[in-house]
Amino acid sequence: MHSDVSSRGDEKNRGAGEKLTGKKLTDAQLLHLITTEDPGEMRELFAAAGRVREVHYGKAVYFRGLIEFTSFCKNNCYYCGLRKGNAKIERYRLSPEEILACCRMGDTLGYKTFVLQGGEDPFFDDEKITGIVSAIKKEFPESALTLSLGERPRESYERFFRAGADRYLLRHETADPAHYGKMHPPEMSLAERKNCLRELKKIGFQVGAGFMTGSPFQTPGCLLQDLRFMEELQPEMIGIGPFIPQADTPFGSQSAGSLNLALRMVALARLAVPAALIPATTAMGTIAPDGRELALKAGANVVMPNLSPQNVRKLYALYDNKICTGDEAAACRFCIEGRIRSAGFEPLMCRGDWAGFTGRKTPPGNTLKK
Ligand code: SF4
Repeated sequence: MHSDVSSRGDEKNRGAGEKLTGKKLTDAQLLHLITTEDPGEMRELFAAAGRVREVHYGKAVYFRGLIEFTSFCKNNCYYCGLRKGNAKIERYRLSPEEILACCRMGDTLGYKTFVLQGGEDPFFDDEKITGIVSAIKKEFPESALTLSLGERPRESYERFFRAGADRYLLRHETADPAHYGKMHPPEMSLAERKNCLRELKKIGFQVGAGFMTGSPFQTPGCLLQDLRFMEELQPEMIGIGPFIPQADTPFGSQSAGSLNLALRMVALARLAVPAALIPATTAMGTIAPDGRELALKAGANVVMPNLSPQNVRKLYALYDNKICTGDEAAACRFCIEGRIRSAGFEPLMCRGDWAGFTGRKTPPGNTLKK
């Protein structure tokens, strides 16, 4: 492997290419890799991340069926089209029966993981969520269920876990407290977000953290903190997507994050948490037609095609120009499968648990062992 770092005689980073794996990189090395636009260095970084991914997952790419079940949100994140202050979007909620219908469609298409994602919508209280979780697990006991509902008290998370939910996604978005404060209103806090992530892990969920790249006010130092936080938390999943503006938000006129930066951060996240499940996100596919394939080549190993009913897809407008909002679930499934194969990977419709998964923990206070 050639190291362009060495060939440029940069002493600080000399040999970093050969040492990318199996060794904790220094802050200076990471900052260099976060910012480099050198094609040779990026190739080397992506190849190293690909090798690490192969150690844990081979060429497998796991499918998750995404169900965006509510576009209501009580929060006001400055970057998000679902923020409560956005009066321009039409809001929707799926009924439990509609959610189950999405799962049935997904099951027919072979999905073995369902992801229920929504804004922080108080309408879906613990009672309603546990009812939905129980109904899904009753009908599809072999399938994994992921929740992505935002911040809730620990007791709520425990109830969801006891009801059968297996995984929880809660992106922290930025691990730099000052940056977090510029992306969110004062009532939201990074400390609370991190606390939720730690509680979810303690309860026994496979936990997904994650962050945006190229967001307004972000510096390379913010991304360094994201990587250090990933190393500390050791999440089972890491979601990374470029910032994409949504016109009706305070950040509506900001520029989108670059594809290269997002790809470098996917690769660095793979090196930071080698066995993590890392999606090639829809946002990657939105900023570049082959963004998801490139993310797989940079170390990602999960895709999340949409199972939401077609009539609501466009309404779940986190950001503008989101791809795949018009396609049927079956079309999405087969389109992505083809993309994965042509990128040289193997699409797999199994549950696709984290590589270190040894079975569900007994939930706190639980009597229903699984
Ligand atoms: S990012 Fe999540 S919590 Fe924030 S406004 Fe959007 S849906 Fe709500």
